Amino acid sequence: MQINTPTDALSALVHELSRLPGIGEKSATRLAFHLLNADKEKVFRLADALKNAKEKVHLCSQCYTYTETDLCEICASPVRNGNTICIVERPSDCRAIESSKKYTGLYHVLHGTLSPVEGIGPEQIKVFELIKRINEQKFSEQENSEVVLALNPSVEGEATCLYISKLLKPLGIKISRIAYGLPMGGSLEYADRGTIGRAMENRVEC
Ligand SMILES: [Zn+2]
Repeated sequence: MQINTPTDALSALVHELSRLPGIGEKSATRLAFHLLNADKEKVFRLADALKNAKEKVHLCSQCYTYTETDLCEICASPVRNGNTICIVERPSDCRAIESSKKYTGLYHVLHGTLSPVEGIGPEQIKVFELIKRINEQKFSEQENSEVVLALNPSVEGEATCLYISKLLKPLGIKISRIAYGLPMGGSLEYADRGTIGRAMENRVEC
């Protein structure tokens, strides 16, 4: 038997790791060998953390970010501004905006953007849940109510902003968009705090 001949278990590990975003087969192989080399205890802790997170974390019943409780910490907080909802693509975008410390309202996570090419319509993302939330909470009747669109600068992000604006405008809600210091194709997730903070502070009404 040759040294480094993958066993079935090793092949399976490389295969699973290579399915993670940004991990090619080379990186997956390197990670797999790293894990096999590491202390058993450390690797089992990682396996437990993965299992625990997947078992305990679910979507917030109001904003659809990740949480371990029914309502996430932000939705449940009495000090957040309930009259402002910031629309983002992913839970990781909430984290990015939170790190800027320039936003004190609530969120609504769409879990994607509209993409006719990929067959992603409004039913596949949390758009109707947003409309339901806004109607049920009589959001438009609240003083200074505002929806802030903070989708990533991409063709799909643009199309989604337009779609949501058209749905919300008749309800008489102020709609704004974050000012982009972000390049087209860029992502909130990878932008620095200062850029996100400025984009949020300089948001413009649609
Ligand atoms: Zn929430």
